[in-house]
Amino acid sequence: MTAASPPPAPGRAGGGLGSSVAQGRFALKSTRVATPAGVRPAIVVIDGERIAAVLDPANAPADVPVEDLGDAVVFPGLVDAHVHINEPGRTEWEGFATATRAAAAGGVTTLVDMPLNSSPVTTTLAALEEKRAAASEQLTVDVAFYAGLVPGNARELPALLDAGVCGVKAFLCHSGLDESPAASEAELRAALPLLAERGVPLLAHAEIVPTDHAPGAITDAASWLASRPVSMERAAIELLDRLQQQFDAPMHVVHLAAAELLPIFAAAKAAGRRLTVETCPHYLFLAAEEIANADPRSKCAPPIRMAADRDALWQGVLAGTIDTVGSDHSPCPPTMKHLATGDWQQAWGGIMGLELILPVTWTAGAPRGLTLQRLAELLCARPAELVGLDDRKGRLAPGADADLCVWDPEATWTVDQTQLQQRHKCSPYDGARVRGRVRRTYLRGQIVYDGQKAVSQPTGRTLSRKSST
Ligand SMILES: [Zn+2]
Repeated sequence: MTAASPPPAPGRAGGGLGSSVAQGRFALKSTRVATPAGVRPAIVVIDGERIAAVLDPANAPADVPVEDLGDAVVFPGLVDAHVHINEPGRTEWEGFATATRAAAAGGVTTLVDMPLNSSPVTTTLAALEEKRAAASEQLTVDVAFYAGLVPGNARELPALLDAGVCGVKAFLCHSGLDESPAASEAELRAALPLLAERGVPLLAHAEIVPTDHAPGAITDAASWLASRPVSMERAAIELLDRLQQQFDAPMHVVHLAAAELLPIFAAAKAAGRRLTVETCPHYLFLAAEEIANADPRSKCAPPIRMAADRDALWQGVLAGTIDTVGSDHSPCPPTMKHLATGDWQQAWGGIMGLELILPVTWTAGAPRGLTLQRLAELLCARPAELVGLDDRKGRLAPGADADLCVWDPEATWTVDQTQLQQRHKCSPYDGARVRGRVRRTYLRGQIVYDGQKAVSQPTGRTLSRKSST
């Protein structure tokens, strides 16, 4: 807790959720506030765009209106460090306006955009500038960017890092998009000294597909799973682990699906090495044997593995081996998912899940012992640190942006994909009964989602990594 200056006059208790308009100097009180010191009763004092103080309720300020939120949980605004927005170039897949409205509805106040599947892909400074221009005046929440590492663009990286990208993404297998080819070990070796020097992470899609790989027909979740075995993840992660040791660059493996590889990350942590790992809500919630054969909405890579893998991933989350949970929101038009025919072979690999990252993770995690404090680390603090935005984002502390997610972890509801804010109403969670509902989202002190809809004019900004600003 951090003390604010003592208030001279009595405060005012506010009404229930949805009753206030945020502006100027005000405060929110709850019995469950995710402070850096843990989830506890607290009052968050907001002054303009920033958090002014986080107070013990016994020290209620008297010079600002205090709205009592009861036992609604107050989190920092979520930081989703893995989102694919496809604008410019493929805005019909997903654009900044729809994606950031979906983010606000999900309690996400900062997202970091992957270098694909926009066109151009973000592998040059010019492409980054196109991205930023496309995002301008469309953002309901804040957006930062990654650069892509592809064969031949290593010379672009210094300028991209100078321009404030949050990390550099590489695919170790075909990305699904010919404009963004895989990086080989040679490309990684060319980039890692620079990333080590700058302290900026490499983000890696960790699957290596053998050149003689000959999968059988892909007809359902089981055959898709069989076509991308754990050995592909293992080959990539073992390579990355070796390179991390050699170059000492920060390295973050995204969307781990194979829980049997967790010991590699546990060993790196124990040695104090900068090798970290993300998993996604879909690997923590779904299981291959539970997916209907005719439903490719859950097709992604690496594939959704078995329930036993899901349980083992949860052990990695609870033990602290897994650092972050990111949505890997990877949209496409529903026709590309081949929903009518259930064609797993042709269906685009990607899951639309930005808006549901909180309830999906919480629903699967709470019965397994996930605490609110650990959840806030996974969804807020750790991703903000990873992408170099922790000076402003991911924590409720004086000086940080007043980004908040107010939510009810006990509320149960049924996902209806037609009600989602994302461009295409297509979700593998459609019809699922989930726990946890976002009631209100604040961006820099302004309500941007009121429990029903995005309510502000687009006030989101494009962000740069702190070391580059
Ligand atoms: Zn992705």
